[in-house]
Amino acid sequence: MSVTAQSVWNNCLEFIKDNIQPQAYKTWFEPILAVKLSDNSLSIQVPSKFFYEWLEEHYVKILKVALTKELGETAKLVYIIKMENTYGNKQPFTERIPSSNRSSVKAQDVDIPLNNKSPELRNPFVIPGIRNVKIESQLNPNYSFENFLEGDSNRLARSAGLAVASKPGGTSFNPLLIFGGVGLGKTHLAHAIGVDIKDKYPEKTVLYISAEKFTQQYIDSVKKNNRNDFIHFYQIIDILIIDDVQFLSGKTGTQDVFFHIFNHLHQNGKQVILTSDKAPVDMQDIEQRLLSRFKWGLSAELQSPDFETRVSILKNKLYRDGVEMPEDIVEYVAKNIKSNIRELEGAIISLIAQSSFNKKEITIDLAKQVVEKFVKNTKREVSIDYIQKIVSDYFQMDVDTLQSKTRKRHIVQARQLAMFFAKKLTKASLASIGSQIGKRDHATVLHACKTVDNLTSTDKQFRKYVEDLSKKLAV
Ligand code: ADP
Ligand code: MG
Repeated sequence: MSVTAQSVWNNCLEFIKDNIQPQAYKTWFEPILAVKLSDNSLSIQVPSKFFYEWLEEHYVKILKVALTKELGETAKLVYIIKMENTYGNKQPFTERIPSSNRSSVKAQDVDIPLNNKSPELRNPFVIPGIRNVKIESQLNPNYSFENFLEGDSNRLARSAGLAVASKPGGTSFNPLLIFGGVGLGKTHLAHAIGVDIKDKYPEKTVLYISAEKFTQQYIDSVKKNNRNDFIHFYQIIDILIIDDVQFLSGKTGTQDVFFHIFNHLHQNGKQVILTSDKAPVDMQDIEQRLLSRFKWGLSAELQSPDFETRVSILKNKLYRDGVEMPEDIVEYVAKNIKSNIRELEGAIISLIAQSSFNKKEITIDLAKQVVEKFVKNTKREVSIDYIQKIVSDYFQMDVDTLQSKTRKRHIVQARQLAMFFAKKLTKASLASIGSQIGKRDHATVLHACKTVDNLTSTDKQFRKYVEDLSKKLAV
């Protein structure tokens, strides 16, 4: 019989079972998976970091004895920590990576000898040679630089990303903050940097996490009284990628803990990569000291792609999917879906699906139908509340002020703009728009729309407001 990870581990388990309490065996050993055996090193997957620490604290001796019996004096044990709540959540990569890829992600992960890298990590039982941890990077290998197409809209961010990837922690782009609107490629680029680093520096620990999940983990750690463990875990990362940091706004506890982690990593020459839907100056409810840290490095914006870039993104996607599509149709889609790459891809996918399910040829007419649905759908997503929020943010007032009865010119103008966009972007009636924006009647809304039309053609400054807001409101 050949020696496999499973067979080695089964033998270890038999030995361990004989030597510890049945309940302890059930709790601490049954959930472990044997994953890999290479030379004298056995990799086991444990459900969480706390699980791993528990094993290290209570069972490291018996593990060592058992493993040495199986693999000899040079035996090594490698823990693979499966991040909590990773699988089955809404993160795009967990749904997309087929299991074969997932294991290859694991395979790229590396040993971190905790005892010499992070002296303050709680480490009461150091047995040289046996203690190694792997942290899964949570990266999606499908998001690479190779398929992140370059254009004017992303050139700065992309090259900064490449620079960081070739010298993580060694450029002045630390942190690197990538910001821009929905669907413009922040997540993709953030992964691409991580994937490239893993490729170039397999020994470095890279971790990708959304700010939302980071917050959740932090809250859990507070509940379980593990706050320090949580901090220490993050302090041993070499390249920390946090997606959508705007999520931290208003969450002072999480901001505080992130501040400490950030400082530690930065001081130790570790790389931090952040993404956000806003530039640091526009972030609200984020502590000043954290914002100032964000500004230490480089903030690079992802803008809406121009027509050429949109066409090449589409063509690249079709090429990778092995689908052929007439040039004029690709251009039609690229011309009509402007502000969001995710939607651009969505439209093309739905076009392909439509044509293959219904056995229809892909024609311009079909493209029109599909695009129309997309454009309409996006419009429906804009609510009057959202419009009021965007307009008042833009003029730096709050929504109450925008709705107030005042006749101050700039407030009146803001209100009229909100009404104008509500008319343009929603299906609501004039009366309903009026009642939602400061309880006005339909005539006021009509008047507002006319005024905005007039001012747009006569007043240059005002036209700029309309243009800026159109961009901000384009989902
Ligand atoms: P964000 O995080 O900014 O909302 P994503 O990174 O999720 O956006 O990107 C949305 C979609 O657009 C993804 O499928 C991504 O692969 C694709 N995409 C974004 N930018 C590019 C690009 N420059 N080249 C190719 N695909 C891109
Ligand atoms: Mg994203």
